[in-house]
Amino acid sequence: MSDSFQRMWAELLPVGRSASSGGYRRFAWNSADTECRAWFEEQARNRGLHYELDRNGNQWAWLGDPRGEGAVVTGSHLDSVPDGGAFDGPLGVVSSFAALDELRARGAEFTKPLAIVNFGDEEGARFGVACIGSRLTAGVLSREQAHGLRDADGVRLPDAMEKAGHDPDAIGADRERLARIGAFVELHVEQGRYLDEHQSVGVASAIWPHGRWRFDFHGEANHAGTTRIEDRRDPMLTYANTVLAARKKARLAGALATFGKVAVEPNGTNAIASLVRGWLDSRAADEATLDRVVEEIRQAALERGERDGVRVELTRESFTPVVDFDGPLRDRLAWVIGRGRPDAVPVLPTGAGHDAGILASAIPTAMLFVRNPTGVSHSPAEHAEEADCLAGVAALADVLEDLACQG
Ligand SMILES: [Zn+2]
Repeated sequence: MSDSFQRMWAELLPVGRSASSGGYRRFAWNSADTECRAWFEEQARNRGLHYELDRNGNQWAWLGDPRGEGAVVTGSHLDSVPDGGAFDGPLGVVSSFAALDELRARGAEFTKPLAIVNFGDEEGARFGVACIGSRLTAGVLSREQAHGLRDADGVRLPDAMEKAGHDPDAIGADRERLARIGAFVELHVEQGRYLDEHQSVGVASAIWPHGRWRFDFHGEANHAGTTRIEDRRDPMLTYANTVLAARKKARLAGALATFGKVAVEPNGTNAIASLVRGWLDSRAADEATLDRVVEEIRQAALERGERDGVRVELTRESFTPVVDFDGPLRDRLAWVIGRGRPDAVPVLPTGAGHDAGILASAIPTAMLFVRNPTGVSHSPAEHAEEADCLAGVAALADVLEDLACQG
């Protein structure tokens, strides 16, 4: 098992890695993504699996009949955020192939079709929408919406697809495919630090509801050297105060709130800004808490805006409700991994979105998390120890054996 994992890991490691940052730049349909896809197809063919590229650009490697009912599916994604780490996505795909190798070495007899999947464009790094491959399949992103997407260079998604040899007119909901799947299990590197030093693998309970809000702070552009302090309507002050308020409100509520993107007009060093636009990302364990935190941040912005002579506008740009993973499937995973002691297996929520979160509305879905000692993710510093990765492979193999090899 360790040989197969290490070999695959070493093969993928250099693909799409930036020499300057050490991070990955595997974006939908670019050359590094194409190379990752070729690697996936080769893994499938080398194992005698039936390889399939679906209408939405997701890759499948089938053991058993792809048309059979009640298939057990595992996998993740191979694309990355800009300068992402090596583990987010690839750990799930590599572990899936390694788990299959392990089950074959055990002489496991499969009673259900098994598939390993690589979902396309999970991170949304290029076209700004995450989980495009699984969203299209589940029908929560329409063909028309997808065709309207453009990357930062103005390249349309269908043109990028076509250039990579994929028919963009074929994309769209694929519910018959989902109907044939009995369970989907995604193994993923943990993107936080909930697992402690005694816990290498955990099971996901839920994905926190999350959303993005745009705050527009309208002030008045003026000269930085000649405008008296009392005459200013400086939106930067309101913005700065709102950032601090967001942190405080989120901390008090046990939630998360982040201003990670800001745009300033006119953006001159010697000019008071006329407009500051800040984007808030906020997440919480439940929607009521999330609503309350965002409302408190809005109130803080309005009150401060009043003092600064700044008009504040708030627009919700996106929202994803809470995703509760399938209870019986989660309990079964905990039972198998805990070897009859489910209480010994950590069950943890996550603030990050995943393909598993998209599919959870359509099919029984579960996630396994492998410990990340620093918790850093979406960065070249993202890491998991090899021993933990191998524990993840073993846990996934046990789970797949339980799901796909029982009468
Ligand atoms: Zn991921």
